[in-house]
Amino acid sequence: MSANFSASRRRFAGSFLDSFLLIDMNTNGASENLPGGKASGAATPVSGTVADVRARIGTLRRRQHGARVSLVPTMGFFHEGHLNLMRAARNESDFVVVSIFVNPIQFAPTEDLAAYPRDLGRDLAMGSAVGVNLFFVPPDEEIYPQGFDTKIEVGRVAEGLCAETRPGHFQGVATVVAKLFNIVRPDKAYFGQKDAQQAAVIKQMTEDLNFGIEIRVCPTVREADGLAMSSRNTYLNSEERSQAGVLYQSLSEARTAVAAGETSASRLRRMIKKAIAANYMVDLEYVRIVDPGTMEPVAAVDRPALAAVAAKVGRARLIDNEMLIPPGGTDAQDRS
Ligand code: AMP
Repeated sequence: MSANFSASRRRFAGSFLDSFLLIDMNTNGASENLPGGKASGAATPVSGTVADVRARIGTLRRRQHGARVSLVPTMGFFHEGHLNLMRAARNESDFVVVSIFVNPIQFAPTEDLAAYPRDLGRDLAMGSAVGVNLFFVPPDEEIYPQGFDTKIEVGRVAEGLCAETRPGHFQGVATVVAKLFNIVRPDKAYFGQKDAQQAAVIKQMTEDLNFGIEIRVCPTVREADGLAMSSRNTYLNSEERSQAGVLYQSLSEARTAVAAGETSASRLRRMIKKAIAANYMVDLEYVRIVDPGTMEPVAAVDRPALAAVAAKVGRARLIDNEMLIPPGGTDAQDRS
């Protein structure tokens, strides 16, 4: 964690954030937003501390016995992909907590932590409009105080794919999600299929460590040309943006080929690579055909498999994936 970054987050948390903090502990939060997503007029509360989140959720649970609490963990800079998770949570629970935290321990020193796009005011307005009940926007030192010394050791599902170029990434993700789970203690937590390996790691961790939380994985939300929405798309210039669409187009070609009877994972990988290679600004990192649960490579697509790609396009590292379903097969994945 960079000291400068921490200091700037601290300043940020102590000034701008304070103007959003509603310290009215007499309201239970659930009544501040009407079910169905229409804000009642009061601003959605923003917590910056673990103690405040716990107090608010404790009050809610005391006042509304059996209240179903959902958590949507994010790094902010919202787009429709994020909002879709919040809407799903809104529809399936009584109280939606959205965390906004750019988790420093999931970024390698060479990655884009400092440049990661942020716009808290816009995020709070967008989240409030879809009926979020509480934002948790902690400063770095609230999550990683001095002396913090424990991390989740992730297993085989966190090997390969993105882990090949981002060692330690999933350990960082699992650690922050475990902390958020313990802070919020939700009944359900929402993740996007766009980050398929991340969702698989979280599902595995939740089961292995008996969190007792239902993990919901929502479909990838895309731009008109198929590009998966991502906060990092903002890094793309217009030519990069138009070439980036090939990632999904290549996955769609593979999906069509499988539906027409192709089963060879190596032929499918070659097909995807060839389509992507025609776009000189898209620098392919990997193409893998894997089991959607274990993320282990498969040789034949004789049952539903996941095609996953990662590529650098300009400054942006983009990932995407698509289910490949052989004729007669069904996509048995849990997608809410
Ligand atoms: P992030 O803020 O990028 O860490 O993403 C927060 C959550 O939103 C993660 O569970 C992501 O998988 C999910 N997400 C991000 N982009 C999309 C998308 N285009 N469609 C669906 N979910 C998404």
